[in-house]
Amino acid sequence: MMDMNAPQLSLGVIGAGAMGTGIAQVAATGGIDVIVFDTRPGAAAKACEGIAARLSKRAAEGKMPTEDADAAAKRLHPAASLTDIAPCAIVIEAIVEDLTVKTELFSELEKLVAPDAILASNTSSLPIGAIAAGLQRKDRVAGLHFFNPVPVMKLVEIIRGPDTTEAVAEALFVLARRLGRTPVLVKDTPGFLVNFGGRAINTEALALAHENVASPAEIDAVMRDCYGFRMGPFELMDLTGVDVNFPVTRFIYESFFDDPRLRSTPMHRYKLETGQLGRKTGRGFYSYA
Ligand code: NAD
Repeated sequence: MMDMNAPQLSLGVIGAGAMGTGIAQVAATGGIDVIVFDTRPGAAAKACEGIAARLSKRAAEGKMPTEDADAAAKRLHPAASLTDIAPCAIVIEAIVEDLTVKTELFSELEKLVAPDAILASNTSSLPIGAIAAGLQRKDRVAGLHFFNPVPVMKLVEIIRGPDTTEAVAEALFVLARRLGRTPVLVKDTPGFLVNFGGRAINTEALALAHENVASPAEIDAVMRDCYGFRMGPFELMDLTGVDVNFPVTRFIYESFFDDPRLRSTPMHRYKLETGQLGRKTGRGFYSYA
């Protein structure tokens, strides 16, 4: 297995959405060559260009040296096809939160990469053991769970599945630190630590709104101004994307055999079904027009 501090380390990022783009950014600024792939035509190139533009803006504002921004931009490479990922020592998957789609991708990836390459998933809730279940080599699969927005949020959960070796987990600790993150080892349980802990706040907030105790804006204000949260649960759901947090909420609820504490509400589902996904669609619990 390659040393995660090696200068010539090359990292593959699959999925150029909110999370993949953030992961690619912190990897490039951490001195790592990044190859980005997305099935949406043009998405990987757009993500790389967006990161380069953001870094150059930061340099112009005096927040980072111009040569560092330029060097990081040069480390970003959009992939024309999934096979371009083949030389990567580590691949981080950040695609749609769907177990079938993820397992299909991992079985393609294991045929492409070197036998000692690490395959990591940024899943918010799906069991790492289930993502690895059908693979020939389950020992090199792990969870590497970043938080949104990646360049700002320092915490990273490292999740070992039932077969993940200690060496793989240790390599991910080294990588996470190289990316300027704070890694924590958590168990392969539904929602891991952060998203399971956060359910209590989200589902309670949804229930309060559902029961007309208070509006989303009032609940968010209480969480910010009284409890000192940086943003309220509805603001956070709009930032995450309802298409991301609804399946996570449902998965955790089902995983705990329909525990009512973890139940969502019809309004949450309605936002999903009507495409009111949050910031990404201009409307969610709030309007961003
Ligand atoms: P997103 O919808 O912004 O991006 C997903 C990207 O994956 C899209 O660009 C899509 O075209 C691409 N994609 C879908 N299927 C693909 C495939 N088979 N191969 C290659 N590309 C594919 O989603 P996101 O918010 O970046 O979330 C990605 C993952 O990260 C999910 O597993 C999610 O649960 C997890 N996550 C999300 C957040 C968050 O706050 N949004 C936080 C932590 C973890």
